[in-house]
Amino acid sequence: MREIILIKYGELALKGLNRNTFEDVLLRNIRRRLKNVGAFSYAKAQSTIYITPEADTDAECSALLDAALPRLKKIFGIAALSRALACEKDFSDIAARAIPYLQDVLSNAKTFKVEAKRADKAFPMKSPQICAELGGVLLSHFHHLKVNVTEPDVIVTVEIRDTNAYIHAAKERGAGGLPVGTAGNAMLLLSGGIDSPVAGWMMAKRGLRISAVHFAAPPYTSERARLKVEALCEKLTPWCGSMAFYCVPFTEIQEVLRRECPEEYFTILMRRLMMEIAQQIAKIDDCGALITGESLGQVASQTLHALTCTDAVAKIPVLRPLIGLDKTEITDISRKIDTFETSILPYEDCCTVFTPRHPKLRPKLDEIEAAQAAVNWDDMVAQAVAGTTKKIFALHVTENGGGILI
Ligand code: ATP
Ligand code: MG
Repeated sequence: MREIILIKYGELALKGLNRNTFEDVLLRNIRRRLKNVGAFSYAKAQSTIYITPEADTDAECSALLDAALPRLKKIFGIAALSRALACEKDFSDIAARAIPYLQDVLSNAKTFKVEAKRADKAFPMKSPQICAELGGVLLSHFHHLKVNVTEPDVIVTVEIRDTNAYIHAAKERGAGGLPVGTAGNAMLLLSGGIDSPVAGWMMAKRGLRISAVHFAAPPYTSERARLKVEALCEKLTPWCGSMAFYCVPFTEIQEVLRRECPEEYFTILMRRLMMEIAQQIAKIDDCGALITGESLGQVASQTLHALTCTDAVAKIPVLRPLIGLDKTEITDISRKIDTFETSILPYEDCCTVFTPRHPKLRPKLDEIEAAQAAVNWDDMVAQAVAGTTKKIFALHVTENGGGILI
């Protein structure tokens, strides 16, 4: 008899959302994620998805599960997941298999309880009886164990379903959140820093499908700086799924701003241009919002006054999931999602190339708009959009390294 994986997505996450859509999108994301791993069959019932490996031997099935689990842990919308053993729908088979199967987890626990879920009402034992009898079997084998029904170290679950019974314990936490694709699309302004990949990850966790836009200013910013941002896209795809990456030529814009505008307004004007260009590119992928990695007060362009001036050009919402987080909190997440080591590679960003000596901390919108009148805004935006290149970082390709240029 084989092991399978049980995926729990939790009832709470379903509130206010169309349950079927939620399940279908989650299942589609799971199938995509496991496509390269091997053959699996999928079934869903009662807030659970059952993933069964399809291979000839137990060893091959086990290897498939080993490969699937770390991938599944990066899929948003999964609250918890566990391996489970499939048994005959027969209590003596369940009891006999439970002991070796639970050996490791119960040897390391002090207390446990058994829960039974009896989807097949034709099964001759009722749930309390299954719990009591299996509990007795386990107690007589694992002498150190005690039952604790309120706060057990381990919950052993027995599910009696259509074709099989399943035993599982040791649930692992999933990535949580909502399945990518259930909340619409958004355009992430992706620099090479620590913050913006984390911001994209956080919004993908709330169900947004992410595209990314990067502003590059060659030769002030190097090819290696752009490759670093592409590497960040690759790091994000296991979580966010395949992603479009747009690279905007920003050199000329920065040179014009430096030539034509007061230095103290340079950063805000540049950020307003980034917003304007990003929201135009956002239309390509039908993105309903922009995402940035800004955090209140982190730098001069992230004061409330500066954000007000930047926001004034935005016609779609600008989502700033890091706005209330400290750098250490952001760094912790970036380590967890494995973008940190790439983010700290020491390549320059276009924002840092022309940093004014004394940026305005409290810019006023009318002053900014007056400074902006000195440049041909619409032409600059149109040119930058026209010169933008696109790459797709397809999940099945990034797993093997590299994006596809289109
Ligand atoms: P990060 O770690 O994300 O680079 P930061 O602290 O360096 O953030 P800024 O350089 O002020 O902050 O940028 C704020 C936000 O503006 C970034 O989080 C990102 O969303 C966006 N941004 C900055 N530079 C670029 C760029 N070259 N291309 C695309 N987006 C950018
Ligand atoms: Mg930056």
